[in-house]
Amino acid sequence: MKRVLFWIWVCSLSAFLIDWAAVGLMLLRGDYDIMAGAVVGGIFVILLLVSGVGYKLCNGKCPNCGKVLFERDEFCPHCGEKLAK
Ligand SMILES: [Zn+2]
Repeated sequence: MKRVLFWIWVCSLSAFLIDWAAVGLMLLRGDYDIMAGAVVGGIFVILLLVSGVGYKLCNGKCPNCGKVLFERDEFCPHCGEKLAK
């Protein structure tokens, strides 16, 4: 799951950069009809945020109680389970 989210994040980041490079090229050519490119870019920004937040939330999950861990501690702050490094 974590790996999948990471790849979604990487893909949307590269897609976003490619999209905005294309929009930039259109502007350079004097073509200001960039609405579609801007919308696509916006969609990738949302995807980037969603997968980024999802990845962050998946970053640490206690194997015992399943609560989300925001920091990698040695023990789960919720149930005290010893966490594998
Ligand atoms: Zn726990």
